[in-house]
Amino acid sequence: MPTNEELFARARRVMPGGVSSPVRAFGAVGGTPRFAAKAKGAWITDAEGREYVDLVGSWGPMILGHAHPEVVAAIHRAVDASPSFGAPCLPELALAEKIVSMVEPVERVRFTSSGTEAVMTAVRLARGATGRDKIIKFAGCYHGHSDSLLAAAGSGVATLGLPDSPGVTGGTAADTLVLPYGRLDLVEEAFAAGGDLIAAVVTEAVPANMGVIVPPAGFNKGLREICDRYGAKLIVDEVLTGFRVGPTGYWGAAGRDEGWAPDLLTYGKIVGGGLPMSAVAGGAALMDLLAPAGPVYQAGTLSGNPAAAAAGLATLELASADVYSHLDAVSVQLRGLITDALSEAGVPHRINNWGNLFSVFFTGDQVTDYESAKKQDTAAFGRFFHTLLDEGVWLAPSSFEAWFVSDALGDRELEVIAAALPKAAHAAA
Ligand code: PLP
Repeated sequence: MPTNEELFARARRVMPGGVSSPVRAFGAVGGTPRFAAKAKGAWITDAEGREYVDLVGSWGPMILGHAHPEVVAAIHRAVDASPSFGAPCLPELALAEKIVSMVEPVERVRFTSSGTEAVMTAVRLARGATGRDKIIKFAGCYHGHSDSLLAAAGSGVATLGLPDSPGVTGGTAADTLVLPYGRLDLVEEAFAAGGDLIAAVVTEAVPANMGVIVPPAGFNKGLREICDRYGAKLIVDEVLTGFRVGPTGYWGAAGRDEGWAPDLLTYGKIVGGGLPMSAVAGGAALMDLLAPAGPVYQAGTLSGNPAAAAAGLATLELASADVYSHLDAVSVQLRGLITDALSEAGVPHRINNWGNLFSVFFTGDQVTDYESAKKQDTAAFGRFFHTLLDEGVWLAPSSFEAWFVSDALGDRELEVIAAALPKAAHAAA
């Protein structure tokens, strides 16, 4: 059986950095990434046959746990009918109808294949609808790796401490205004200075790519009001929060209670149940500007893929109120265990959460934006991470990432985590 080190050496010979997506390479924490061989429920097995409790869940999609039998059966049925048609098909129609029925302002859904593509499409649509070029995004929010959104981005860009990426043209970068998260006064100022040029504000419903940041009360609603005043579109990116922080995500609960609605929502991760699937969604008038209903062009050979749509639909159908109650309860338990272990070891830390979604910052100070998130002790996180991994707990290899709980986590898994945490906390101290 080849070791993870041997596999990683082989991978680096044929794949840049040995991976298909940067954060997987353990760049921030050092060491050798584990090659995943298989996963079931809350457990993932590496290429050497070691088992870990998984708190990454493929970075969000596996909310029911890995290889849920009904999701796998739905995929098998779809694949038996053919992995792809390149034509309208029933699974994508059923998934679109499901999303429209679940999320109130959504009347139309356009499927894409990654979160990047979904947000890129939303931005194009906003620009096409307004005839304006500029967009506002917030530092530390990650909306995928398309050119106009790769500015002061969180996730892997934050993990690797990279500046904005080479390869993004100056012209594209100039059309993206980056503001600190949570500062409505600065959004107001930017619109006062050039509101007639701004097509859209793009925000994560709850930022979770610089670690989890709790939106200040009224922030999202305030963005809505400013956008309305200046005729700009509000794009709420729920690629990560959608169908995770509640049955619909952030918007369907908190947003609706606060009495506002975005113009466009973007979904990914859970909406494909672990296969490549994402979506832009919104009201009919705006969405029908997309080709072929309207002039704004967007397309995809594999868009609305039947197997991915079937996996997404099965996942959404299985994600009952009980599932969300369980996720919330597990998250509360986990956060309690983490705080106890880190406090006992004297490690300064903060845990931010929105519902079951949370992250642990290795700093004693409050974390409210990208600047405060960057002040954490990433070396302490590295020691914490590696000890947990050695003890059989699989975390995202970056303190800028959220922890993802799944419905498959139960007492046995929590016991493994509870046993590992004190050691990891002492290593971090
Ligand atoms: N938007 C948000 C909020 C995300 O968290 C991510 C990925 O983590 C993306 C967009 C990009 O999605 P993808 O990696 O599928 O391109």
